[in-house]
Amino acid sequence: MHRSEVHILVPQASRLLNRRKATWSHRSKPIVHLLTMRLIVSLVFALLGLAPAFAAKPNVLLIVADDLGYNDVGFQGGKEIPTPNLDELAAQSLRCTNGYVSHPFCSPTRAGILTGRYQHRFGHENNPAWLPEDTIAGLPLTETTFPQLMKQAGYTTGAVGKWHLGAHPQFHPNRRGFDEYFGALGGGHQYFPGDKGGVEYTIPLNRNGQDEAQTKYLTEQFGDEAAAFVGRHAGEEKPWMLYLAFNAPHTPLQAPPKWLDQFAHIADKNRQIYAAMVAALDEAVGQVLKKLEETKQSENTLIFFVSDNGGPNLAAKSGSNFTDNTPLRGAKGAVYEGGMRVPFLVSWPAMIQPGVYEPPVIALDFLPTSLAAANEAGLTPKNLDGVNLLPFVCGERTGTPHDTLFWRSGGPGGNNAVRRGHWKLVRLGQAEPELYELGTDIGETKNLAADRPEIVQDLVSAIAEWEKGTIAPIFQSPKPGPKKTKN
Ligand code: CA
Repeated sequence: MHRSEVHILVPQASRLLNRRKATWSHRSKPIVHLLTMRLIVSLVFALLGLAPAFAAKPNVLLIVADDLGYNDVGFQGGKEIPTPNLDELAAQSLRCTNGYVSHPFCSPTRAGILTGRYQHRFGHENNPAWLPEDTIAGLPLTETTFPQLMKQAGYTTGAVGKWHLGAHPQFHPNRRGFDEYFGALGGGHQYFPGDKGGVEYTIPLNRNGQDEAQTKYLTEQFGDEAAAFVGRHAGEEKPWMLYLAFNAPHTPLQAPPKWLDQFAHIADKNRQIYAAMVAALDEAVGQVLKKLEETKQSENTLIFFVSDNGGPNLAAKSGSNFTDNTPLRGAKGAVYEGGMRVPFLVSWPAMIQPGVYEPPVIALDFLPTSLAAANEAGLTPKNLDGVNLLPFVCGERTGTPHDTLFWRSGGPGGNNAVRRGHWKLVRLGQAEPELYELGTDIGETKNLAADRPEIVQDLVSAIAEWEKGTIAPIFQSPKPGPKKTKN
């Protein structure tokens, strides 16, 4: 039986059996557990003489934005930048209000997403420099990747967009598990064809190892490519996984008139351009969602959406802070919430009831969740830090997916953060630890360390224990280049 025929029926059954809204403080009992439901549907299909229902593995779509502010999309409450397509995705998603990435900046977060492990365990705690001869600066080859596992699970795998996991050919996406790749291999890229700029920002785009010219505004080109992937693999026997990593709205601040005009009312020039870049990102996501619909893949595609870190505060460099992380403290680079608490959506119309999910989750969870969704949980490596979210979000398990979450930036002795329940401890280098209660103080304004020394002690001990399973960074972030001087 063809996949598309199966997944039309499965969602209808599962939707009826899965009407619930998950909340941290209040959790209604599910009518029928997910696995029980799967069994029932399988039996029905067997009786009808059809192939097992869960031959219909969902497609998996990971959408990663770059440096997007916490409050810069409509579904997070932002009013200034309309994001109708992302809002539509949010409306069909579980919006995870305590959703995190595993690092406050680019490459380490991506290393975490693509391995399901704290990247500190394998020394990937910095951004790799663009050094094509460097065999160290990149996602270590010792790590098994998300797409490699999805291939084992029977998936066609593709990546579109920013890579930033090593410049040496051995780190190329095609060598790390992706059947198909199109994008920019470095940490960022100019948005317009032919623009001048620094090192990796002007290198040619790359398709499966071959240079390829940039033909249009980059966010649009990545949207085109992703939609083409979705269309190309629709109706195939094999499901697909697509890692769509926009470099938007990361700097350089560049946007076409089409979107700039929409924000002509914004006085701050940087903010205006940034808003236009977010609008372009939204439209590109909408293009992919539309293609899913046109090809009847919407119901049975598991979609994750995050930003790779919080919005940056580049006021010192650019003259204004053009991103909005309200109501969080701090920005990209910080281990306060503004660094790594991000817009976080999980959508799977066939199986997951839309709503709000409050317990802390982290992008490390995407990998084990996807394998479980594919009914291939047996392939999940034993050394993961991410967990399968499905039993929690579908009401099969009570409790929270994670007891404790950890962050570290700058290697051992650098900046640490740890979250357990609503308690968050921040320790900046050798400074005294700070303690916040995020349930009542999401903005980390009241340091309660002096009031609750026992919690401070517990969390400091937890960091020490966690750090035993980490190593020092194996490569350093590139140093800022020499300032350009006019001759
Ligand atoms: Ca980033």
